[in-house]
Amino acid sequence: MKNLSKRFSKYIILSLIISMVVLSGCSQLIEGSQVDQIQVDGQLRVHFIDVGQADAVLIQEINFDSSSNMLIDAGNNGDGEFLVDYLKNQGVESLDYVIGTHPHADHIGGLDDIINNFPIKTLLMPKVTSTTRTFEEVMEAVAANDLRITTPAVRTKYALGDAEFTILAPNSEEYTSLNDYSIATRLVYGDNSFIFTADAESISEYEMLDVFNKSNLKSDVLKIPHHGSNSSTTDEFLEAINPKYGVISSGLDNSYGHPHREVMAKLTKANIKIFRTDTQGTIIITSDGENLSIQTELDGNIDTNIDTDLDINPDVNRPKSDSNEIVISELDKIAEFVTIKNNGDEDVDISGWKLVSVRGNQEFIFPSYILRAGSSIDVGGYDSRDLVDFIWESGGGIWSNSQSDPAELYDNNGNLISLFED
Ligand SMILES: [Zn+2]
Repeated sequence: MKNLSKRFSKYIILSLIISMVVLSGCSQLIEGSQVDQIQVDGQLRVHFIDVGQADAVLIQEINFDSSSNMLIDAGNNGDGEFLVDYLKNQGVESLDYVIGTHPHADHIGGLDDIINNFPIKTLLMPKVTSTTRTFEEVMEAVAANDLRITTPAVRTKYALGDAEFTILAPNSEEYTSLNDYSIATRLVYGDNSFIFTADAESISEYEMLDVFNKSNLKSDVLKIPHHGSNSSTTDEFLEAINPKYGVISSGLDNSYGHPHREVMAKLTKANIKIFRTDTQGTIIITSDGENLSIQTELDGNIDTNIDTDLDINPDVNRPKSDSNEIVISELDKIAEFVTIKNNGDEDVDISGWKLVSVRGNQEFIFPSYILRAGSSIDVGGYDSRDLVDFIWESGGGIWSNSQSDPAELYDNNGNLISLFED
């Protein structure tokens, strides 16, 4: 009987919407403030896309006559083309919202590719800048596409079709960690709810608890903050969200040890069912407004419609790599970063190139990346993550030793391109 009446009310709303469309010829019917009362009539698909040690979440609200799309973060620098293809394969032609949660390379790395490939209605980013080349590339793409960046105020609600999301953070003007500038959101679709916090740490979590009632935080799904780091997921925050499911986006065998053991123990103890991109690949959670269904790529029960023949790194039109204009221009042993500069006037594809710390015999392999003529990039360890374009995934110190430790750069044919003697 309950089902029947629910179905009946869905039918009435459907008819109403159809007649309104016919009357007004307009598909933008739902205002933000009314979303809560409206019965959903389609489905919501949340894709936690496997981009290794990084974040990318695609949210699709699919309705009978339209769909709305939103992307939260765009992986590392090398993930841009893959994400563009992934979105296109999901039928995405434009994005209603894109959120670049904070300026770290593992969140906004591929954002320039997204901006250059899809019309975007609203681009949300926090009020903080970075001096990295990665951040500059995003700003260049924003300018080239005449986009405006919106810095959302906490409590602001945005409609995504029948779904609605609320801005939960950041709640302060200034933080010491860039992670705490992360834009956090709570997405509601019918009876289902999701929380996305990007890399918010405990400071931001406590602020959210101060500002919002528990009833406005409680959610079915929590994207576990900061790749499962022990910097986040405080007991108080977890208790308030009280999720049934947790999703962790991290890379297999990453050097940070994410997700951290104590976080995993905490989630297990709280009876939260965990899904992880490092062991399960892309994870898709589908909601019909009442129930959730979950598919995972590597468990073989997912159909992400990815065309595996698709060449995501096409060799055609790629800049040549046989250039001796690329140099290691700086090696800061204290701050542990290396600057690589393209002094030539041609762009150079450094995908697969290798940076070596000779004494420690540690290597960094570049993901897919074009180093533009005249520009430079910084590669550094975890401690300098706020400053660099690429994070060297190494547990211990790389350059911080007292002895001489030259840096070498090799192209993908194994030719030594540059040597920096310290
Ligand atoms: Zn991150």
